[in-house]
Amino acid sequence: MSKTIISIVCPCYNEQEVLHTFTDKITSILSETGYSYELLFINDGSKDNTLALIQQLASKDGHIRVLNLSRNFGKEAALTAGLDHAKGDVIIPIDADMQDPPELIHDFLREWQKGYDVVVAKRIDRSSDTLAKKITASLFYKFHNSIADVEIPDNVGDFRLITRRVVQAIQLLPENQRFMKGIFSWVGFKTSVVEYARQPRAAGESSFNGWRLWNFALEGITSFSTAPLRVWLYLGVFISTIAFVSGIAIILKTLMFGVDLPGYASLLTVVLFFGGVQLIGLGVLGEYIGRLYMESKRRPIYIVENDTTSPPSQSANDIDH
Ligand code: UDP
Ligand code: MG
Repeated sequence: MSKTIISIVCPCYNEQEVLHTFTDKITSILSETGYSYELLFINDGSKDNTLALIQQLASKDGHIRVLNLSRNFGKEAALTAGLDHAKGDVIIPIDADMQDPPELIHDFLREWQKGYDVVVAKRIDRSSDTLAKKITASLFYKFHNSIADVEIPDNVGDFRLITRRVVQAIQLLPENQRFMKGIFSWVGFKTSVVEYARQPRAAGESSFNGWRLWNFALEGITSFSTAPLRVWLYLGVFISTIAFVSGIAIILKTLMFGVDLPGYASLLTVVLFFGGVQLIGLGVLGEYIGRLYMESKRRPIYIVENDTTSPPSQSANDIDH
């Protein structure tokens, strides 16, 4: 068998409705390229028929491999599992829902042949997203990039081509809580950009609702920046200075003009306000400490339940006897 050149890595969580369309489409695109390829599905603990479906597809087509995780670990973990098990020279993570147009693979390969190690797909059109998602996404990128050590390019998702050495670099990052967009940017390498218009989901539902996206954004910021921790130092210095100066002013005023009683309302407001500010500071500390705690357990990022992707080691032993 010739060596696999292209590995398509597709994390799937409850994707039964789109899998057939997706597989047909991507298979036809891949055969057009003329390269040998594999299509690696990662079943991320789907609750529907996804696993049975991809296993059935794999039994009919030797290019298709299935990695079944023991439960739902989330897209970032499923993607990591896929990168760890992909065998190709170039690896292309893609969503199963057809939001990442498979046609772009041709452009990816063209750029790769020019010598790029990373080819990212940039959305030029977010019209398939709701207004709220557009606004929050743009705010997130602005905020993240203004405080984080590595910049995440605007409107670029996980859909991209990376070469094997980029995957090897990614594997050097041992963190448990994986914000892949940040990790992809962090490793660097020569990058080319291909533009596309993002389509709405072909079928099924997005598993990223508002709350999950908010946590995802927190993950992104706390994984790649400590600015939210440091800001409290400066805020503290600023407020203490004001308090010190106003304290001196009050003492002088009292010495000169005597004691005057009114002012409880404003005093209470200030106390409450700074009580709130302190709690926010504690909350930010809590976010980081929580992440430190999870990270310090050194748990694996994912657990594979069954892997039809590599031949069972049993068969190798059999030959010896
Ligand atoms: N996905 C996954 N595990 C999850 C959630 C999502 O593997 O816990 C997969 C999903 O099957 C799809 C991709 O990640 O292939 C993107 O998910 P989705 O379309 O829900 O996200 P969106 O496009 O809305 O960002
Ligand atoms: Mg999607």
